[in-house]
Amino acid sequence: MSTITDTTDLWALDWRNRGAALGEPWYTRQQPTAIKAPYPVVFNDDVAALLDIDAERARREGYAEVLSGNRVPEGALPVAHRYGGHQFGVWAGQLGDGRAITLGDIVNARGQSYDIQLKGAGKTPYSRFADGRAVLRSTVREYLGSEALAGLGIPTTRALAIVGSDAPVYRETVETAAIGTRVAPSLVRFGSFEMLFYNRQFDRLAPLADHVIETHHPDIAAIGDACERYRAWVAHVIAVTAELVADWQAVGFCHGVLNTDNMSVLGLTLDYGPFGFMDSFNPCWICNHTDDAGRYAYNQQPAVGLWNLGRFVQAVLPLLADQPEAAVEAGQNLLEAYRGSYDRAYQARMRAKLGLLDTAEGDADLVERLLKRMAANGADFTRTFRALGHVSADPGATGAPFVDEFVDRDAAHAWLADWRKRLGNTAADDGQRAQRMRLTNPKYVLRNYLAQAAIEQAQAGDCREIERLHAILRRPFDEQPEHADYARLPPDWARGLVLSCSS
Ligand code: AMP
Ligand code: MG
Repeated sequence: MSTITDTTDLWALDWRNRGAALGEPWYTRQQPTAIKAPYPVVFNDDVAALLDIDAERARREGYAEVLSGNRVPEGALPVAHRYGGHQFGVWAGQLGDGRAITLGDIVNARGQSYDIQLKGAGKTPYSRFADGRAVLRSTVREYLGSEALAGLGIPTTRALAIVGSDAPVYRETVETAAIGTRVAPSLVRFGSFEMLFYNRQFDRLAPLADHVIETHHPDIAAIGDACERYRAWVAHVIAVTAELVADWQAVGFCHGVLNTDNMSVLGLTLDYGPFGFMDSFNPCWICNHTDDAGRYAYNQQPAVGLWNLGRFVQAVLPLLADQPEAAVEAGQNLLEAYRGSYDRAYQARMRAKLGLLDTAEGDADLVERLLKRMAANGADFTRTFRALGHVSADPGATGAPFVDEFVDRDAAHAWLADWRKRLGNTAADDGQRAQRMRLTNPKYVLRNYLAQAAIEQAQAGDCREIERLHAILRRPFDEQPEHADYARLPPDWARGLVLSCSS
């Protein structure tokens, strides 16, 4: 236990600075820009634990100086990462960390590596025309969004803290600045490789791929033949992307801006902008109001995952084989696995959501018919699945509270009859099934209106709602009857909420 007499620097972590060591053209050394009077907003014990940081001591001693970027910890060599990306289907050229500065990467006592990054810490060589800052609103959304997905067990970057400053930031209106500390094993993106490919820096692909493989995939690093090693790595990226998209679909999560610069090579949910959890189920739901064409609508995410992987695989083709034709063939073969991986992952999650223990023909159809009915009735995605867990398999039993989520109760009852038939004897133990379903159908998700309330209170200087909401979303599968209000349908005022990319 540390005490108040601790004299070691709280931030004297085991800094490795692999980004700085790799250097140009992948990483550029960049100091954060100091900001006026930073103050603490929230600090996350869970993420502190990943980094072996004593959260209590951080709160006591203050973390705003370091996590604003005003004081760089000794031993850390801050960098900005250079990447590009396809934005809304078009190659956008160089983007890069325009406002995110990675202090460095550390290794914890368990040997796990984490990048620690300050988002909104000032301009970098990649800021283009923008100010290098982030606003409190978007920083709170990223904090809550990433911790909500983590609570659901979905791979994501994490949020260690938020630091605020009254420095003005100009968006659609004047807002105040914040710096979010983002933590992830790696923040390398599909676009990190695309940047090198489009710049014809083909010889720069391997060092970045090696950096990712050596740091995060020791099994793959052990493969002797280089092309074979890179193919195994690409197969892994494809597999984790398929799993990640299936995870999103199964909780009604929409990322909102699935550009290739926002796609993690570790299969982490990355870059929280106008993301959202669905309230009433609408397969065509678009959470980003600037996405008129619905390119990143909920039901497009599985196909977008493949499209983005196509861009990634194209960029790393030179690694896959010595001859171009062989590389293209290898790349195509690897991509072919996506559809099957995605379907298997999605169906497994949906079967679990229905409480099914085994696989039978017709399961996909059963899921589809439920979703159709939910869409026709505008049934709430989260509440409907949660309610299903409380329904008895006994055909004589009431369908409540599940049918209560539907306007057309007969349609809900008709589907329930099919579901009960399918449950048969295998999963008929209501108690056990309810228990299982509780662990896969969350009661609490970060509905937009909940995030909005936390933001508005934070903007008024009260951060307790962020803490309260975070505490609930850390264990979204638990009943938490004292917080039942947070599982309610959105109030009327929330229906008009629109989210833009501005952050
Ligand atoms: P995002 O929409 O946050 O994923 O950002 C897309 C690109 O724009 C990335 O290269 C960001 O670093 C950059 N960017 C976004 N906002 C800012 C900002 N305020 N200052 C500098 N760069 C930014
Ligand atoms: Mg981004």
